[in-house]
Amino acid sequence: MRAVLSTGSNMEDSRAHLVSVVRAFGPEVIAQSSLYRSAPWGGIEQEAFLNQALLIDAPLDDPFTLLNRCQELERAANRVREVRWGPRTLDVDIVDIEGFTSTHPVLTVPHPRAHEREFVLRPWLEIDPEAHLNGEPVRDILARLEPQGVEKL
Ligand code: ATP
Ligand code: CA
Ligand code: CA
Repeated sequence: MRAVLSTGSNMEDSRAHLVSVVRAFGPEVIAQSSLYRSAPWGGIEQEAFLNQALLIDAPLDDPFTLLNRCQELERAANRVREVRWGPRTLDVDIVDIEGFTSTHPVLTVPHPRAHEREFVLRPWLEIDPEAHLNGEPVRDILARLEPQGVEKL
């Protein structure tokens, strides 16, 4: 199962938290983007985020199993859920899964807010210049967005 993940962190050693995801998926990581420094999204006053996109190919049949693996990594980073879109040690979102869509609230794919987030789309485009989201080239979606304070490191 090929999937695009978006990782983010703005607490503790953010770089180490993002690296922990790459390590955990190991050889299933097909491509990883550069790290990006991103202004926080969602109107909460907080530290800047580090974000990364990963392309993975995991021997899984069930997308919910992939979600569980992502949430296990968040738990391993001792993520505490407080305010929505607030600070977190590690967030691992499934952006897209090849050949799969879902509107289930527990797992919505493609991710329902990916199309409005430069910190998701720019790293993704870096590792897959031909990427499409909901049938539209990611390149075109990005070209329409206002700048959101996302800087490639
Ligand atoms: P956002 O979803 O806007 O990026 P968030 O990442 O802060 O916000 P979380 O608190 O991490 O939100 O996740 C809330 C719930 O979203 C999770 O428990 C999960 O079941 C659900 N969810 C639905 N679709 C997805 C997806 N594509 N990737 C990850 N989680 C998802
Ligand atoms: Ca998220
Ligand atoms: Ca999340």
